[in-house]
Amino acid sequence: MFIGIDDTDSPAGMCTTYLGARLIRALGQAGMRVFETRLVRLNPNAPFKTRGNAAVCIEVEGDRDEAFSLASGLVEDLADFSCTNTNPGLVVAEHRPDPAFYWKAAQDFCTIEEARAILDREGALYRGWKNGRGLIGATAAVASVLPDRTWELLAYRRAASWGTPRDVERASVFAAEAATWPHTWDSVDRTQDVVVCVPHTPDPALFGIRGESPEWVTRARALIRAEETEIEQVWVTNQGTDAHLVNGRIGSLLEGRSYRVPGRVVERPVTGEGGHVMLVMEEEDRRLTCMAFEPTKGFRDIVRALVPGDTLLVCGSYKNGTLNLEKIHIDALAEDTMVRSPICPDCGTRMTSAGKEKGYKCRTCGARSQEPEISTRPRAIQTGWFEVPPTARRHLSRPLVRGDVQA
Ligand code: ATP
Repeated sequence: MFIGIDDTDSPAGMCTTYLGARLIRALGQAGMRVFETRLVRLNPNAPFKTRGNAAVCIEVEGDRDEAFSLASGLVEDLADFSCTNTNPGLVVAEHRPDPAFYWKAAQDFCTIEEARAILDREGALYRGWKNGRGLIGATAAVASVLPDRTWELLAYRRAASWGTPRDVERASVFAAEAATWPHTWDSVDRTQDVVVCVPHTPDPALFGIRGESPEWVTRARALIRAEETEIEQVWVTNQGTDAHLVNGRIGSLLEGRSYRVPGRVVERPVTGEGGHVMLVMEEEDRRLTCMAFEPTKGFRDIVRALVPGDTLLVCGSYKNGTLNLEKIHIDALAEDTMVRSPICPDCGTRMTSAGKEKGYKCRTCGARSQEPEISTRPRAIQTGWFEVPPTARRHLSRPLVRGDVQA
């Protein structure tokens, strides 16, 4: 059977994956055999998410009612019911429901009624606390399929430490990444010299190591020196797989969905207030504004180096009418041409415009010219993929270290 859980946490604490890790142990102690422990991330633009829109699914063999009652008990003990936005959902299904619901939850928006209809059709045991919104994530988790997958080892703190500063030795995290990269990734951001895998929120997670197999994340974990943990769990996940992205076209993007979109650069990108970089793309006569926000740091330099005529595939979420960039593929680079007033052939000073469509005039000697000076600058960038740094990476974004994705 498949046990799905979601929406047990609040900004003040708890974490659905911690609750899942506790349940895995409780199921084992009850003599049940756990086959798979799965952590899925759903639509990163879902309006009621607490942090990373995570839900869990545990595949286990045993008595359905006993599993349901163990899981219900843990939800009641651990979920943060005080928060209005915490509406836990628990599902125990004997068969995986149609994965279409998982894809919808990862790429689009779902309703509680849709989740309930699926669960009723499947004859699943389920319970939604408060408004029951967590049934969406719990149902998506049990319906999930992982055509591409990665792993994460999550280490959880002892309850006495929750809410206090985390004690994780910085140098050991850098050493763990150095010893296991590219098989693990995003534990640190080397360019910015910061640790990425240790959260700063008051939840039970101490750190999470992401990688290509359970062996690699475990190997990296062994090198990390930190406070004593309560429990540690390796999850198979859809993180780093681009499961949220669908192919889209400029002019037909929908709010809150995430896309891969082809287009051509219209104007030189502009850096606005706060260091956010705006890029305008077009396809035929339709236009799309894309943003590389300040936290994407050095990625903005790539975007700034684009010029009109460059052709791209851009990836990211479409929110408030703009596409927030996660990565781009530069397909072809245009010539970077600059059109200026020419140098006066007679006296060598730079001429100025003589007026609209009137050519150029030398203010020094009065000479005239019709032709502007056109120069071509060498391009500072090359074709290929470029991505935001680990500090700005979304859980679902496939990092380039995992290998080239099809452009
Ligand atoms: P954490 O990652 O720390 O567990 P969270 O970010 O997962 O927290 P939740 O507390 O689970 O946040 O809140 C997300 C809520 O949104 C859940 O109730 C979930 O069922 C619901 N939800 C998830 N995906 C969608 C979707 N695509 N459409 C509508 N609701 C969704």
